[in-house]
Amino acid sequence: MTGPRLNIAWLYADLMSIYGDRGNVVCLVRRCQWRGIDVAVREIGIGDELDPAEADLLFIGGAQDREQRLAADDLLARKAEPVREALASGASALAVCGGYQLFGHEYRDAAGTVLRGIGVFDLVTEPAAPGARRIIGNVVASPLLPGCEDAPNLVGFENHGGRTRLSVGAQPLGRVLHGGGNNGEDGFEGCVAGRAVGTYLHGSLLPKNPWLADWLLQAALTRRHPGYELPALDDTLELQARESAERRAYAAG
Ligand code: GLN
Repeated sequence: MTGPRLNIAWLYADLMSIYGDRGNVVCLVRRCQWRGIDVAVREIGIGDELDPAEADLLFIGGAQDREQRLAADDLLARKAEPVREALASGASALAVCGGYQLFGHEYRDAAGTVLRGIGVFDLVTEPAAPGARRIIGNVVASPLLPGCEDAPNLVGFENHGGRTRLSVGAQPLGRVLHGGGNNGEDGFEGCVAGRAVGTYLHGSLLPKNPWLADWLLQAALTRRHPGYELPALDDTLELQARESAERRAYAAG
């Protein structure tokens, strides 16, 4: 009998991967290997085909506006359909910051350029009001992900100019306890649509929030292996790192 198999599709690894975002992929891969899951990562860049049947877990990170603009056209023209198809057939996804913005309906950058997104999340992102600062710093958010409300608080680092607003009825990922979150005003962080999670949290996010890594893995593995249950790991070190990040966020005021 062969063990479980998981394919990760990493969108625009070269263009969209700042503030440690690549650590999310490293974390997902390691958490699979520790459990004997046969994991493969495929980098899908500009011009590359995304095969929805082969993408069990999609990841897209963040970027400065210039790189984000380069990726946006390709995402819309070549990847929108396969991303939707993969998600509709049970894949999971994590989209961070610039990737999160492009998984919404549109992102208007500080120069006024409108980048159309692929609409996985029911949200839009606008630039900061004139004179307003970028939102930068450590974040703590209590989880609102359905079924995970009792999980440890999410911790991460945010650095974005864009202000994201969810449509009425869209599901936020968390409630901000410290930091700015989606827009610095409504107290929400991130968005969840089915098995797709969007967030402003870099860090890397997943190594310090192992429950979210496992949520994404469990969802993705169920696609190819119905009934599969992810074995538990010893997350003592990860949870210590999470606690220390949370303490540091509050200590910074
Ligand atoms: N360019 C986007 C913004 O500033 C996203 C930045 C990021 O991914 N860190 O809002």
